[in-house]
Amino acid sequence: MKNIELSENRATASIEPGNTWYDVYHGLEPENLAVIGGRVSAIGVGGLTLGGGISFFSSEYGFACDNVASFEVVMASGAIITASPNSHADLYWSLRGGGNNFGIVTKFELETIPQGLMWGGSRLHLEAQFAAVVDAFYNLGINSPKDVAAAQILSFAYAQNTRFASSELEYSKPIANASIFSEYLAIPAIQDGTMIRTLANVTLQINTSNPNGLRETYWVAAFKLDRDFTAFTKDVFFEEVLAIADAAAVMPALTLQVITVPMLRNFAKHGGNALGLSEEDGPLLLSSTNTMWADEADDERVLGTNRRVFI
Ligand SMILES: Cc1cc2nc3c(=O)[nH]c(=O)nc-3n(C[C@H](O)[C@H](O)[C@H](O)COP(=O)(O)OP(=O)(O)OC[C@H]3O[C@@H](n4cnc5c(N)ncnc54)[C@H](O)[C@@H]3O)c2cc1C
Repeated sequence: MKNIELSENRATASIEPGNTWYDVYHGLEPENLAVIGGRVSAIGVGGLTLGGGISFFSSEYGFACDNVASFEVVMASGAIITASPNSHADLYWSLRGGGNNFGIVTKFELETIPQGLMWGGSRLHLEAQFAAVVDAFYNLGINSPKDVAAAQILSFAYAQNTRFASSELEYSKPIANASIFSEYLAIPAIQDGTMIRTLANVTLQINTSNPNGLRETYWVAAFKLDRDFTAFTKDVFFEEVLAIADAAAVMPALTLQVITVPMLRNFAKHGGNALGLSEEDGPLLLSSTNTMWADEADDERVLGTNRRVFI
């Protein structure tokens, strides 16, 4: 089920759930259009949209679920219905954040946005820059209302006895080094992959750090955004990962994101979503650990390490 079809007035695209986000963005590229969806090429439309869906464009437009005009759903009874603000409105609300609990979605009618080239990529930093990187992350999170075209993901990783930070920066327009990023861009980087590129290309580049074929675990929690707590989270992560540093092919990472006030403001679109957050709750720090490793024998200690970061 990989069909992608624009409506006559181009305001929505009807997307079947067999598509990955790469398929969707690449398919809409010739039209200079995009939809609000995932940031990694191999991720699917279904789970991300039904679970919420953070996009590079979420400060401007909200999460993926905030930009769904309607869903075609197969219910447990076998009935095929359309859920929209005007038809089965309670189901429409529930599907926007409610995951797979309500039926199988066979078509997502997603609102389109004008989208040509954009700017983005990742910058790699060593430990001496960690304090500056945490400050830049916090300040960009707080300053998000000043420029909703900006997006960030900050990751800390441990590999070959070395601690790294990777700042993934995106700007929805084809403008390099926009002033909202000036604090980040003043921090020395040992590698800089930022450039003007297509949305599909940005998602492919991020996918390279998520190889298939390994064991994986993801853990997540949200907190009020606070500078000292952000730094503390990073310190706890680096302290705990030492226990698994010798596991075969291990790749532990801590990924930090901000659920910005403009994102939360957009949660009110179409009568509100089911995620249970409002503008007054923000900004929030979304903190997640993700670890890949090779050997089943290491399962228990890898899971224990991830658990200890959060508990
Ligand atoms: C590398 C990586 C990058 C990610 N990047 C982002 C990101 O940028 N933004 C973000 O918000 N999240 C991101 N995520 C999290 C992602 O949104 C979730 O993992 C999501 O569940 C993936 O959906 P899927 O359809 O690919 O996966 P699946 O495992 O196929 O589905 C996940 C769940 O959704 C249900 N589901 C899937 N399709 C349907 C359908 N059509 N109808 C009913 N139920 C369905 C499945 O039953 C399952 O319970 C990322 C995850 C990974 C691993």
